Amino acid sequence: MKNGIFISGTDTGVGKTVVSAILVSALQQRGVPVGYFKPVQTGTDEDTPTLSRLLRLPLSRFPEPAYRFPEPMAPERAAKVHGVRIELARVAEVWRGLDDRTWVVEGAGGLLVPLNERQTTRDLIRELGLKLVIVASTRLGTMNHILMTIEAAEKDAIEVVGVILVEDRDSADRDLENALRRVTRTPILARIPHLDGLSPESVARVARERLSPVLPQVFGDLAASQDSAGVEGLAQSAELFARDHKVIWHPYSQHGLGEPILGVVAGRGAYLKLSDGREVLDGISSWWVNLHGHAHPEIARAIFEQSQKLEHVIFAGMTHEPAVQLAESLVAYPTLRDAGLSRVFYSDNGSTAVEVALKMAFQYYMNRGEKPRERFLALSNSYHGDTLGAMAVGEPEGFHQIFRSLLPQVDFVPPGDLESLKALLSQNRGQYCSFIFEPLVQGAAGMKMYSSQFLKDAVSLCQAEGILTIADEVFTGFYRTGRCFAFEHAGIQPDLLCLSKGITGGFLPLAVTLASDRVFEAFLSKDLRTAFLHGHSYTANPVACAAANASWKLLQSRDCQENIIRLVQQTQREIESLNRHPRVTSVRSLGTIGALDVQSAGNYFSGSLKQLGRHALDLGVLIRPLGSVLYVLPPYCTTQQELAKIYRVIGDLL
Ligand SMILES: *Cc1c(COP(=O)(O)O)cnc(C)c1O
Repeated sequence: MKNGIFISGTDTGVGKTVVSAILVSALQQRGVPVGYFKPVQTGTDEDTPTLSRLLRLPLSRFPEPAYRFPEPMAPERAAKVHGVRIELARVAEVWRGLDDRTWVVEGAGGLLVPLNERQTTRDLIRELGLKLVIVASTRLGTMNHILMTIEAAEKDAIEVVGVILVEDRDSADRDLENALRRVTRTPILARIPHLDGLSPESVARVARERLSPVLPQVFGDLAASQDSAGVEGLAQSAELFARDHKVIWHPYSQHGLGEPILGVVAGRGAYLKLSDGREVLDGISSWWVNLHGHAHPEIARAIFEQSQKLEHVIFAGMTHEPAVQLAESLVAYPTLRDAGLSRVFYSDNGSTAVEVALKMAFQYYMNRGEKPRERFLALSNSYHGDTLGAMAVGEPEGFHQIFRSLLPQVDFVPPGDLESLKALLSQNRGQYCSFIFEPLVQGAAGMKMYSSQFLKDAVSLCQAEGILTIADEVFTGFYRTGRCFAFEHAGIQPDLLCLSKGITGGFLPLAVTLASDRVFEAFLSKDLRTAFLHGHSYTANPVACAAANASWKLLQSRDCQENIIRLVQQTQREIESLNRHPRVTSVRSLGTIGALDVQSAGNYFSGSLKQLGRHALDLGVLIRPLGSVLYVLPPYCTTQQELAKIYRVIGDLL
């Protein structure tokens, strides 16, 4: 595993490069394999040659910066001169390509220096997943800058290892260390004397005398070699597993099988970091909820800011900006507006969003004083959630079978079989209140896909009979199928729409059920009995809504839209090339979803592909087979190389 530290200053010209050189030198003296990396280099007065001279190391031993601009300007502006945008993902890619040494990574300027129009050095540090050392001068007036830098870092959950002070020749604040110790808990790691005429000797001397003693504080236990660091990671994850084993009951898990449980300590972009030190690509968007990658700083920030304003309030009789704003964004989206979906009812997970829609559909006819309609129509192979009502409309032969006797009356139509739908409609005329479906992709059934023409015909048959149609887009919503909502592919206009999984970008539980005017109006009267008497404690939680607003904004950005288009095209190519594999019986893809059936791989219960999932993890990719189906569902930040790796690992393992 790469160990490393990010060096940032309170200002430019405080001695970051010298401190970097001294740190590298101190590690060299300990015999630790060490490297220096400058992700973004501006100006001709280059830091890397300075280090090369001071450390007596040939330039060829230093990796190239991810970006290099000759103009002595702030990075964002220098990049603009060249018509370039600094992409953090590209820097992260270069970083991941570096070997497993301990790295000193030096930033350009201070923490809030912009790298592009949206992101700063602080975002870069988070992207790289590094801890921070702040370099400051002992000039008068530095205190304020040090404290602000610490605060800015901690606000974004960046761990500040400590501050290194570099003495200024002209104005050395003698008492600065003591003053700092009184007001911050952040350690002052060292005070470095002003070095007149830098030389390899003076750097080595200061490294030995001033920094050697604090190295463990900065880099962790260096006595542990790379190998034993791995062993330590394993011991830690074994301990977590043992504690988990005593107190946790996991979802969809047979604890009697004694299968391994993996500890996860962090997520960054498309990667998850496991407690044994491994980093794996998240090929399933963490159970289909993640959209923009893990720990996305903009959503994290929105959550932090909203938490400090209003964390929660009852949503009956009260309202707040984040909930109204999210509802406004959704109902204004062109295809939702065209479908007349103008009312947003909040709940907190996919199953409740479905329960809400089913109950609304049932009560709709009651409220209108029509004959009660007590049956539901659904598709075979469907999955709508695990609560009783949601289970009822799910595939009857699947894993919910044992609860069948508890559930209301539902008739199932195989997707594609319009004739059996017609037969049911004429047998049970006036009895169905609603038809619920996952548009085009039946996720939990194994990413089964059916034609948009069938959906279009089925919906128009039902709507002609006055049956309310419910599109369950808990999984397919927010561009998984390439379009914002999967129902758009069929050109239909559902009466109710359920959204959840991706709605907050995978940060917090939240769900919405959108209803058309017609449905909403059926509940309007002066009588409480026709109201929709349903609600959950965390309905429209403001923090979750703030996360959803941030995620929605990211989704509509050009970056994200371009990424989605790229993923859609690549998914189709990768899936087609896997079609030639002898163990693959069929393949399919829609949008960013790619799936394949594996020959004689058993069913949901035999789970014989589980082994394959475990091997994939050893190769750095998290996938989770559904019975005999393998599928890939990448977060939208996944790069072309990363997606190629996921599919390559699948191909190799097959
Ligand atoms: C996951 C899922 C649900 C249930 O959502 P939860 O948040 O897990 O309750 C409902 N419908 C579909 C289509 C789903 O994929």
